[in-house]
Amino acid sequence: MTGTPSGTPLPRLAPGSTIGMLGAGQLGRMTALAAARLGYKTHVYAPDAADSPAAQVSAAATVAGWDDLDALERFARSVDAVTLEWENVPVATAEHLRRFTNLNPGPNVLSVAQDRIAEKSFVNALGIATAPWRTANSADEVARAVAEVGPRCVLKSTRLGYDGKGQARLDSGSDPAAAWASIGGGKPGVEGIVEGFVTFACEVSVIVARGADGAMVAYPAVENRHKDGILDVTVAPAAPDKVSAATAAEADRIARRIAEALDLVGVLAVEMFVTADGAVLVNEMAPRPHNSGHWTMDACATCQFEQLVRAVCGLPLGSVERVADAEMTNLIGDDVLSWPELLAEPGARLHLYGKAEARPGRKMGHVNRLFPRR
Ligand code: AMP
Repeated sequence: MTGTPSGTPLPRLAPGSTIGMLGAGQLGRMTALAAARLGYKTHVYAPDAADSPAAQVSAAATVAGWDDLDALERFARSVDAVTLEWENVPVATAEHLRRFTNLNPGPNVLSVAQDRIAEKSFVNALGIATAPWRTANSADEVARAVAEVGPRCVLKSTRLGYDGKGQARLDSGSDPAAAWASIGGGKPGVEGIVEGFVTFACEVSVIVARGADGAMVAYPAVENRHKDGILDVTVAPAAPDKVSAATAAEADRIARRIAEALDLVGVLAVEMFVTADGAVLVNEMAPRPHNSGHWTMDACATCQFEQLVRAVCGLPLGSVERVADAEMTNLIGDDVLSWPELLAEPGARLHLYGKAEARPGRKMGHVNRLFPRR
């Protein structure tokens, strides 16, 4: 079998088929659980798949490197389609897999989403705003970029940053050289981007699912509150006194526009800043289920994970109807120790990821609390 060219409908995979999953964390786990509910099997592939959150609930796991071409081919030939829960799967890996099976989202989407410069260039080319930004690949270039975007800014590594990792905040008086060193500047492969600091009123995200036939559904814009650079709470949908109907509609339009322009098949999360005057600026995107969509597991007719299964199996997308409003709280590190109280709390819906060790900053689970729709 060869990869399906863009625009060609995917073959409809019947329940009983096996979905290949690149990456083995909690997003893979929750996708595998949604797949199992519809009668699909999951085969996880990751360098660290053994006893991983996803492998614990999957029919099979391959523990092998992203550059192990033989293992990738065997994996691709043993499944009926492949998707991913981690957008930093090397593009060469994705291209190799596509020779043997349908992989969605594909390498073109990954190459945009795994590099902040490619991502921002792509978004800006669509006429969508971001914070002002400059590339900076040395301490001198950081200093020059700071002079251009303003002293209050954020230096980020262009690749592999998440949950605030690989970032340094600068203000007047900050030392560009120290900031550059703090994100690993000077090490092989480390490139930087300096972004103007956005004084946002709140952060929102929109999650879109898109099928191979171009059909799209989107969940309402939600408000995301971060603590120490990590998502803490998602309020779904964003309260109208924080995010007006017009701003929510603009966030929805932006997310759909990006999904369409990427020719995405799967699920895309777009994180955005909303300023006090209601302007919407894209911060970053992830072509996979997202932490800010976990509320959909308990509050929507179809959750984000099932949408991914549907999209990559060539099934019609599900209804995004919201049956309740929701607040999702992440359980980070030792927060997970409160599981007995959360279990005892009426209406709290507890989701744990099967991770043995509660290290600081590690996402161990989340809890959804439901409320009557506003
Ligand atoms: P990121 O890894 O880019 O999502 O950044 C993590 C968090 O840092 C974001 O959710 C924001 O809270 C904050 N942040 C990132 N970039 C900026 C920026 N340009 N201006 C203000 N805050 C930012």
